[in-house]
Amino acid sequence: MLNKPRLLTPGPTPLPEQIRLAMAQDMIHHRKSAFKLVMAELQERLRLLFGTAQPVMPLACSGSGVMTAAVTNLFAPGEKVIVVDGGKFGERWIKISEGHGLQVVTVKVEWGNAVSVAEVEAALDAHPDARGLLIQNSETSTGALHPVHLLGGLTRARNMLLVVDGISSVGISPCPMDELDIDCLVTGSQKGLMLPPGLGLIALSERAWAKAETVPPACFYFNLLSERANCLKNQTLFTTPVSLIIGLNESMKMFMEAGLDTVYRKQWALTMFARTSVKEMGLELLAKDRFTWGLTSVMLPEGIDGSKLLEIAAERFGVYMAGGQDHLKGRAIRIGHMGWVDWADLAAGLHALAESFRACGGYIGSRDYLEKGLQAYHEALLTYDGSM
Ligand SMILES: *Cc1c(COP(=O)(O)O)cnc(C)c1O
Repeated sequence: MLNKPRLLTPGPTPLPEQIRLAMAQDMIHHRKSAFKLVMAELQERLRLLFGTAQPVMPLACSGSGVMTAAVTNLFAPGEKVIVVDGGKFGERWIKISEGHGLQVVTVKVEWGNAVSVAEVEAALDAHPDARGLLIQNSETSTGALHPVHLLGGLTRARNMLLVVDGISSVGISPCPMDELDIDCLVTGSQKGLMLPPGLGLIALSERAWAKAETVPPACFYFNLLSERANCLKNQTLFTTPVSLIIGLNESMKMFMEAGLDTVYRKQWALTMFARTSVKEMGLELLAKDRFTWGLTSVMLPEGIDGSKLLEIAAERFGVYMAGGQDHLKGRAIRIGHMGWVDWADLAAGLHALAESFRACGGYIGSRDYLEKGLQAYHEALLTYDGSM
């Protein structure tokens, strides 16, 4: 009773009451007209969210499932792809591609950094036979934001497909697919979209559809050509998680009522809040240069046990944050601020971070980290300019 539990992880994320209630309604059948009406409304909204004229298909799977669908539908075994690997999710593109029998060329990026356009261009030039470039927009394991908005021209010019994992960026920062010449964009329900886990979303460009038509089906379940045929009739290929679809429609209604620009403005301002506060505390940010708008990753000084810190934040403050992954386990903290998270939740999270850090023996530089952070937040709300 002392604290409300606050879920500040980079997925899953908290759920608005409006969406929870929408999902609580009794079942409707996925082949009947009531469901088709929901899908029709949802399609229109999803196309605005993705910034595309193409259908946006919901698949019953987690984010890794739609990543798998992208790889297996767009490339035939033996083909070559280039993967930008700047963290855990870059590695996932490699594993999925290798599992499908593709030749993988890796552009390795130090954890915390965004890839540079020059590095990508060099790899594309060195491998003109590659058929695609696979990348994260936001690399959730480090908080880096890769410059996908500058890559579409490079891949188009070389007749390669640009495949973007937008799982922690769609609905969080601008990623208009058609405008950026992205050929495949995927996301998942549990990050920016204010939904429980379990639904993946995927859209393909015209070029990508043409390529998919040449690739033999890899398995029965993830067949995007059949999914598209169903989607165009406001249907799904298999039994879909109906409640999640209804919840997604409600979520998209909230997005459209607020306006995408307002959502991105809020995300940008929260990011400025978190980064300013963390710097005021005297802690180091992992992603320094180009950073994502849905989470903030913090490096801990030597001698501070990150797992212990997370335990204290949960027990004493009711705040649930995420730790670092792989070699950053115990050494970094990731504060999620995507989806149904506002300034007050984030203030709670940052306070829990500072106090738990102190309880672990750390020294906090400034006591007015929240005040400075909130100043930055309000300033960012006013000065946000929509740039990527
Ligand atoms: C969360 C996440 C994934 C994995 O999604 P799952 O739903 O756990 O399969 C992949 N890529 C990025 C960038 C993510 O943030």
